[in-house]
Amino acid sequence: MNNFRYFMPTDCYFGRGCVSEHKAAMAKLGKKAMVVTGRSSAKKNGAQKDITDALDALGIAWVLFDEIGENPDVETVERAAQIAIAEGVEFFIGIGGGSPMDAGKAISVMAAAPQKGTDALWDGDAKALPIVCVPTTAGTGSEVTQYAILTLHAKKTKSSIAAHIFADVAYLDPKYMDTLPAKTTNNTAVDALTHLIESYLSARANAVSRGIVEMGLSVFRECIPALRKREYPAEVRDQLLLMSALGGAAIAQTMTSLPHGMGYFLTYEKGLAHGMANGVLTQAYVEQFPAGDAHVARLLECLGFADTKELGAFLDEVLEHEAIYTEADLEYYTDRFMEQPGKIATFPYPLTREDIYNMYRKSLMK
Ligand code: NAP
Ligand code: FE
Repeated sequence: MNNFRYFMPTDCYFGRGCVSEHKAAMAKLGKKAMVVTGRSSAKKNGAQKDITDALDALGIAWVLFDEIGENPDVETVERAAQIAIAEGVEFFIGIGGGSPMDAGKAISVMAAAPQKGTDALWDGDAKALPIVCVPTTAGTGSEVTQYAILTLHAKKTKSSIAAHIFADVAYLDPKYMDTLPAKTTNNTAVDALTHLIESYLSARANAVSRGIVEMGLSVFRECIPALRKREYPAEVRDQLLLMSALGGAAIAQTMTSLPHGMGYFLTYEKGLAHGMANGVLTQAYVEQFPAGDAHVARLLECLGFADTKELGAFLDEVLEHEAIYTEADLEYYTDRFMEQPGKIATFPYPLTREDIYNMYRKSLMK
């Protein structure tokens, strides 16, 4: 067996009512918090109120920044950080999908080093003020990963900040997902599935990450009928949130692989939701492995699919992908993806520019 490290420092609470029940976990993080959310969902699903009630009960002051859009950009993070610094905020609470949780981590990095401005985001050794994450989608697993993905308009793509920031505390309450529309539920569930798949097949996988993924895949398998029907009873919401946290714990060890790196351009250029961008590339990615690869066979078995075609048909059914692409788009995405040696190195076999182009072609010109 290869040598490996396993690291997961986040204090996680899972279950309905967990914020109120375990609010004491926030008591020592600071005297003033910034609650970081998207524009409306955290108000509607009750997560914002649960958190602010808990802060009030603990005697912790708070300010609200509720302007995080989807795929947050550096400019928004910078604006929030300036407010946090002026307000003397001591810790952050990101509530929402991956966008507010990732933004919360990035704001926390900037607030920890006010003199550095946005340079702090690109310093791999940068520290952050304490951060709490409350997921309200079951997809990114950001509450248990060290990544924060921001949109960089200057580079016309998205990228993880260099600083690696794990949340100090994560509250995973599936009830916040009761308000999640079917489209977002399916897109985010597919994001989590791609975390599981990319982690499992990565050159960086190890015995523990693969064990976590096998559990995640078997939980995902139980959710397949609900994702197809677009109906999600409470037990399915529980399973989806558990599965997405397992996906996060796995990519925290291995990082993501080709579909994530290739999909960022589909999000930036065509506006595809993050999970959909990865999902549309997944069948071609899995088929890039040589026939008979034992890990591919095992993952299909865990999911209950006979072959990669069944996996692809399932993804087509649960996603609603309608974007149109040109030949020039495929060439552009391929060139841009080839600028990411780190992602290419996660693929355990040799990979050429032509392979990447063909994966885009198979996926987007069906
Ligand atoms: P999102 O961009 O956070 O949210 C998508 C939409 O869903 C928003 O309109 C949001 O509304 C709404 N929403 C969120 N929770 C809801 C709820 N409970 N009920 C109703 N609507 C709700 O989507 P996401 O897919 O979770 O996150 C995507 C981001 O995470 C991308 O930037 C991606 O790159 C990143 N990501 C990060 C990691 C990581 O490890 N850090 C991993 C994968 C992906 P509001 O705006 O009103 O809140
Ligand atoms: Fe993702």
